Amino acid sequence: MTKRVVLIGHPVAHSLSGAMHQAAFDHLSIEASYELWDRAPAQLADAIAELRGDEFLGGNITIPHKERAVPLVDRQTEEAHATGAVNTLTKDGRRLVGHNTDVAGFKVALDKLVGRQKMPRQAVVLGAGGGARAAAYGLIREGFQRVVVFNRHLHRGEQLVRHFSRSASHMDLRAMPWHDSIIEAELAKTKVLVNATSIGLSDDTSPIPAEILTGDLLVLDLIYKQTRLLRDAAAAGCVVSDGETMLLHQGAAAFELWTGQSAPIDVMHEALRAARARVHVNQDGLVFHVFPRFRLSVSRVRPRGL
Ligand code: NDP
Repeated sequence: MTKRVVLIGHPVAHSLSGAMHQAAFDHLSIEASYELWDRAPAQLADAIAELRGDEFLGGNITIPHKERAVPLVDRQTEEAHATGAVNTLTKDGRRLVGHNTDVAGFKVALDKLVGRQKMPRQAVVLGAGGGARAAAYGLIREGFQRVVVFNRHLHRGEQLVRHFSRSASHMDLRAMPWHDSIIEAELAKTKVLVNATSIGLSDDTSPIPAEILTGDLLVLDLIYKQTRLLRDAAAAGCVVSDGETMLLHQGAAAFELWTGQSAPIDVMHEALRAARARVHVNQDGLVFHVFPRFRLSVSRVRPRGL
């Protein structure tokens, strides 16, 4: 029986995970197919419950469901528990185990961004969703001394800070209101800037004005494309990196959990690069994959009464 692995998100059409994982399955002759399931938040519980069926090997969870997935699994690993976010599901019989491989992916991306420099101790994180939680946890574990989280809805940033109150008790982790002037003041004291919002994912906007970027910043955008933020930052002289490395390494860790085999990282990387070259975004922000090799399923919530 061909096993199924699904990515559940909303939207998912932009995702390159299908290309990366299908190439890895095919390369190792593993009979499995990777599917993209576009499910709104109201459909998440049913979608996750479906994965208990025998034909499923596991799954990935993406925007905006990573935090909502936590109470829907039977068991969480240490990293899922620590972040309060799940991006990978494995099976233990019919039981579902929630993992967070974004943490491992973020670590590789941060190390690559910093390169041979001394690891900085101050960071600004834009966003407070599932990706931001993996980033914040990665920065705490890396020994950062001050991390400031800015989020459109301040209360979500404050929730993130509360969530990490124990693991961050030795350092200064705080949420601040999203105002360009406050972000600018924090950036002046900071070396690392992480964009963990989805601003720039499906259009060409930046979360912050180009003028507040200074050339000594290291800028990581979790979005895996050359976003406006990254272009502005590069123009200001910053060292920049997009989300490809994080995507690749969180994917490799997930692949190993599903299959028990070493991930063919070069094959996955090549598939990612090829898929990036085939992605086109039209003026409305709609994403098209030319020659998709994996299934995209969109499920709409039925209006009540039908
Ligand atoms: P979530 O839905 O959990 O969080 C989205 C975040 O973006 C929130 O902080 C939200 O703020 C903010 N946001 C969205 N729209 C706006 C807007 N118009 N203005 C201001 N803020 C906005 O998503 P994730 O955390 O899972 O993902 C966030 C991004 O990170 C995505 O682009 C995703 O692709 C990327 N990512 C990449 C990974 C990789 O491997 N490269 C791994 C994980 C994430 P608010 O709370 O106020 O709504």
